Amino acid sequence: ATPMSIMVGVGRGASEGVLVKNAEALERLQKVDTLVVDKTGTLTQGRPSLVDQQGVDGHEDARTLLLAAAVEAGSEHPLARAVVDAARQTGRTVPAASDFAAHPGGGVSATVDGQHVLVGSPAFLGSQHVDTHALDAVVEAYRRRGATAIVVAVDGRPASVLAIADPLKATTAGAIEDLRRRRMKVVMLTGDNATTARAIADELHIDQVVADVLPDQKHGHVQALQAQGHTVAMAGDGVNDAPALAAADVGVAMGTGTDVAIESADVTLLGGDLAALVKARDLSVDTMRNIR
Ligand code: ADP
Ligand code: MG
Repeated sequence: ATPMSIMVGVGRGASEGVLVKNAEALERLQKVDTLVVDKTGTLTQGRPSLVDQQGVDGHEDARTLLLAAAVEAGSEHPLARAVVDAARQTGRTVPAASDFAAHPGGGVSATVDGQHVLVGSPAFLGSQHVDTHALDAVVEAYRRRGATAIVVAVDGRPASVLAIADPLKATTAGAIEDLRRRRMKVVMLTGDNATTARAIADELHIDQVVADVLPDQKHGHVQALQAQGHTVAMAGDGVNDAPALAAADVGVAMGTGTDVAIESADVTLLGGDLAALVKARDLSVDTMRNIR
């Protein structure tokens, strides 16, 4: 491999919005047969918003939303921002919270106006001894529409379900199709539940989904695919994705993502657009063809 043609490739990449940090990654990219891709912020815009709410009898929706926002004000999670923004839009004041605690991959809790408020996935609330079964049908309906269902519990009892949706980026479907046409197998990896993940994957014609993945398990899934003999690229944007980006044969960060992800990756897609990964793949094939 001549260093010169690699350098030309790196330069061409830069002009197409693909920042190659590690030149060997450009060589490896043409060998990649499997792309593991994070859902939130990579396939989707990463700007979820509240699209619906269904309260349990005796709980006023607007009040429950304020309690949830009071807790979520302490969280950095994109879902938290969706809840806080929706509550602020009601024009009412979000109360203060104390004793805030975050449970990564599950949800958040705090005390608000003397009440214990939990906000998170039904599974997380279950782990906190909240019986959410009465809400199962609503949760399932939201998920089948591709939304994330978040339950709010007050003093140990469910009060409301929030449907939070994160639209796909405009370029995602086309990019996934182009990558599949280049014989890459695409695997979606997400901390979200299987039904929501499946609904979004179906829209993108992604066959393989790994859902309910805890933040510290993502890199293990990349390594398992490598152990099966695959050459794996991982695309992600979050702090959670960083170890998986480092473990992959080619780590691909969204330029719109966190600094930690960008630092852990070999390649950064400046516009945060998977279409640039298609260009990078073609560039890698061209570069290696010129070398041989
Ligand atoms: P992702 O991979 O989609 O970013 P995470 O691992 O961060 O997912 O979270 C997984 C799930 O845990 C979320 O889909 C949500 O149900 C729940 N969750 C995590 N943090 C919060 C939060 N601050 N508020 C509500 N739910 C949360
Ligand atoms: Mg993400």
